[in-house]
Formats: sequence, structure tokens, C-alpha cells
Amino acid sequence: MAKDPDSLAKDSVKAWLQESDPRELDRLWQQANEARRNNVGNEVWLRGLIEISNHCVRSCAYCGISQCAPATKKYRMGLKAILVAAKQALDFGFGTIVLQAGEDPGLTGPWMAEAVESIKSKTNLAITLSLGERSETDLKLWRQAGADRYLLRFETSDIELYRQIHPNLGRQSDRLAQLDSMRLMGYEIGTGVMIGIPGQTWDSLADDLLLFRQFDVDMIGIGPYLEVSGTPLAGELGSRLKSVSGGGQVPNDDLTTLKAIALARLLCPFANIPATTALATINPNDGRSLGLQRGANVVMPNMTPLEYRVLYQIYPGKAGLHETADISSKKIEGQITSLGRTIGRGPGASRRLLAPIQNPIAKS
Ligand code: SAH
Repeated sequence: MAKDPDSLAKDSVKAWLQESDPRELDRLWQQANEARRNNVGNEVWLRGLIEISNHCVRSCAYCGISQCAPATKKYRMGLKAILVAAKQALDFGFGTIVLQAGEDPGLTGPWMAEAVESIKSKTNLAITLSLGERSETDLKLWRQAGADRYLLRFETSDIELYRQIHPNLGRQSDRLAQLDSMRLMGYEIGTGVMIGIPGQTWDSLADDLLLFRQFDVDMIGIGPYLEVSGTPLAGELGSRLKSVSGGGQVPNDDLTTLKAIALARLLCPFANIPATTALATINPNDGRSLGLQRGANVVMPNMTPLEYRVLYQIYPGKAGLHETADISSKKIEGQITSLGRTIGRGPGASRRLLAPIQNPIAKS
């Protein structure tokens, strides 16, 4: 007799995450690729990423631009520079830009609203914001100004681990609450996690994936954790957290990241899922292509002017760090077409609302 799919789900997800038999994994890759094709089609959507400020008030223990990372020169892009990058994204045929930054109160509510309005009036691009935890007032203001989407990763579903890697600041529940209220405001919402942060266990990663499904999110970003030297997680805190999780520590490798992407596709078949830059960084040869063949349908080429991009090092050696926007997007477009996929044109809105969630692939 068939088991209840939800009680099956966590065991199956955990078993898939730890699978090492290549023939079994081929089955996972095929199912994820099919689910991607059947539910979101062959188009790959390009979102131009503009990293507008590296100021940050937070102390995330893993991040290269946080308060507890070695100091870097700080910048905040002006509206003119942002508009130039946005127009470039438009000229390249992209339908969306993503404005990302550290958590920077210097990007005030009214200033950002003006920026969003100005970009909208001049380009009509879909606008995704990724500016961390912000007040309801700011979020409403930006939505009214025309912002369409918001990315806010919950980073881990393990509340205690979240607390340890975000010392003295914020709680995971604050991020989940913000995702909820942004949905009510009419944003498409995106979230995500890092794979292999010290202290992350198979159990908690399976919970992360199931939380995507529970939240029924529009966008899911999954990339490997990349160690940044000088941050607490690269030092004593990281060693301590790894020893606590014992043999259950999830590795921060490309294979595990690809499994998580494939499972996210099966759990949330209509979500927009990028082949992330972190994945392309850890596997420069074919991380991005493998992501696209195993569930992903989005790529986010970096449109940040080079002078700022080198200062926005949330982790080291970011793929495409020294390439101009036109070179990296040409390269990415070449990769996409060589996979027999087409480039999506237009905003590429979430198709999540088109049909109900299906059940994930069972693992015998
Ligand atoms: N300030 C925004 C944007 C953060 S950067 C916010 O708080 O949402 C975007 C994402 O990069 C983060 O959510 C995190 O998951 C990821 N990231 C940060 N440091 C990283 C690292 N060292 N390795 C891999 N991913 C990292």
C-alpha cells in the first residue's frame, strides 16, 4: 500500500541527498530535468544582478561583507550608475534586474522607492530587490513604487544554527515573517539556503527543502557555502559547529548542491530556480550547465560595474569577477544555447500559481 506522501517526503529527501550510486543519481537528474521541462519549459531566464552597496550592519558569520569580515572599502552606487547598469541589462535583452546589497540603512526607504520608480519609468524591467531585512513601511513603499519581487534567503531551517551564525542580530523567524508579509503585499517571493555551512546536517538540509515547499515560494536560490578567510565561520566557530554535527555534516560541494537543486525542482515544480554564481564558482567548468540540466531555469549574469564588483565579495573568487557584463552574458548565452535551451525574453514571472504542488519523487 502506498505510504502517505508527506511522511515519506523527509525520509526520501534525506535518502536522495546522501545517495552516491551514479545510476540512482541519474534517475534523480532525469526526473528533475523532466519536471523542469514539463512545468517551466525550455526557456532560461536571465536576471541582471546589480550589487548596489556593500555597506552592511549585520554580522553574518559567513559573509565577506558583514561587520565581522575583514574590512573592505565601502561603496554605494548612485542612481545614475544604477540606471546605466539597468539600461545595459535591457539592451542585452534581459527582462529583469536584481538590486542586491548588504543590509544598508543608507539605502533609505524613500531613496530606494525613487530608484525603483525611476528604473521602471525608463526601462519597464521587472525589479527584484534583495536588500535583507527591512521594515514593513519600506517594503510597502518599494512595492508601491513598482518593485515586483524580493529575495530573502532564510539560510537554514535550523533555528539554533541560524542563531549561532547570525550573532546578536535577528532571528530566522523574522526572515520567515518578512517572507509572509511580502507575499501579502503582492511581491513574488524568493528564498534559499547555502549548502554545507558548518553545523548543517542532512536532517536540517532536508527540512530546508521541505520548508521551500511549505512556503510555496516563487524563487529558490541554492549555492554552496564558500569559506571566507577572516570570518568567524572560517575560524573557531566553524570548527566548533562542525564537530557538533559530527558525521552528519553536509559537505559544501557541487554534487550536494546539485542534488538540492534537483530536489527543490521536484518539491516546487513551478519555482524559478537559478544555477547560482556560487555553484559556477565551485565548479567553473560546468557548474552552471549542470545546474541547468538538473532543475534550474534561471541564470543571473553580473551587471555590477567592475570597480564595485571587486568590492562586493560576499565570498572569494566569484565566477565572472573580472569579466565585463557583455562578455559574461555572451558566455552565459552560449552555454544556454549549447544545451538546446532558449533564452527567455520578458519578465519571466513565477508560474507557481498555475497549478498545485505535486509530490516529490519517492525513494525506495
Ligand atoms: N543582504 C542581503 C543579501 C545577502 S547576499 C540579505 O541579507 O538577504 C545573498 C546571499 O549570499 C545570502 O543570502 C547568502 O545565502 C549568500 N552568501 C553570503 N555569504 C556567502 C558565502 N560565504 N558563501 C556562499 N554564499 C554566501
